[in-house]
Amino acid sequence: MIKTKSYAAQSATSPLAPHEIERREPGADDVRIEILYCGVCHSDLHTARNEWTGTLYPCVPGHEIVGRVVAVGSQVKNFKVGDLAGVGCMVDSCGHCHSCAGGEEQYCENGFTGTYNGPLFGGENTYGGYSQTIVVKESFVLHVRHDEKALASVAPLLCAGITTYSPLRRWGAGPGRKVGIAGLGGLGHMGVKLAHAMGAHVTLFTTSPGKIADGKRLGADEVCISTDADQMAARANQFDLIINTIAAPHDLDAYLRLLRRDGSMILVGAPAAPHPSPNVFNLILQRRSLAGSLIGGIAETQEMLDFCAEHGIVSDIETIPMQYINTAYERMLRSDVKYRFVIDMASLG
Ligand SMILES: [Zn+2]
Ligand SMILES: [Zn+2]
Repeated sequence: MIKTKSYAAQSATSPLAPHEIERREPGADDVRIEILYCGVCHSDLHTARNEWTGTLYPCVPGHEIVGRVVAVGSQVKNFKVGDLAGVGCMVDSCGHCHSCAGGEEQYCENGFTGTYNGPLFGGENTYGGYSQTIVVKESFVLHVRHDEKALASVAPLLCAGITTYSPLRRWGAGPGRKVGIAGLGGLGHMGVKLAHAMGAHVTLFTTSPGKIADGKRLGADEVCISTDADQMAARANQFDLIINTIAAPHDLDAYLRLLRRDGSMILVGAPAAPHPSPNVFNLILQRRSLAGSLIGGIAETQEMLDFCAEHGIVSDIETIPMQYINTAYERMLRSDVKYRFVIDMASLG
């Protein structure tokens, strides 16, 4: 076994603190990665604090992992020592259900294994990226083709990036299409950058007039203040697609009315309490769709990373030492970060 320094929560109410875990020695199809950076996702906080229930303790969060390959098993074909590599939200899945067979492991009908707090139904717990090293099956490891200097800013692509990329692709964001991105946080700022790079006309919806300049810098063609009824009314029936990243319960009808006939709104934010139920007539009258989407499959995550490398897309980040994580969580709850914290794992040494 490989002893590894990490930061863990020991209970729902204890702050994260130093903790030693063990990783398995790499098997024939395993890759061992020295973790250089790990992004801080809202899911980390919800899980550490058991806000979605089912958290196993100790809990080592982190599923936006980038680093360097330091060992490979004898059967590993696509990675070698020294390669840059990434690991996102999943480290395994059943491999034989309808979803896995279709390359959509995130919808594995037997439940994918999360990078942390994995096997939801029994089995050993998994420990995430707030640690020095991780051992992962080759088929769940991604190639990182960005310049190494940008590596810290690549980390959030592994969750925030793929969560917005997947629905933008599936619902056809591209030239000639009007795309709305609701909310400008970790997910929303990636949604704006990606939709812009895909060639869509992008409108950012935010409650904060202070974010107008930032929204345009990130690639939005227009910024709409969502609490301004006149600005919202002026955009009725226009959008092909809205990616809704807002994680707080809110009135979905305000956005459904902005969709044109056959338009779709995709929910990717995960609220702790349900949204008020939308008015069915807003769906019926213009054949609009309301859908949800969860991260993306492994092949699509690689496609997203390659797309971002090609277009020079990374996340806007604030790099922090591991010891700052509890303060970072409090700031994240206040949306006091532009737009993602990334832990420099050298601080754990
Ligand atoms: Zn995440
Ligand atoms: Zn499966």
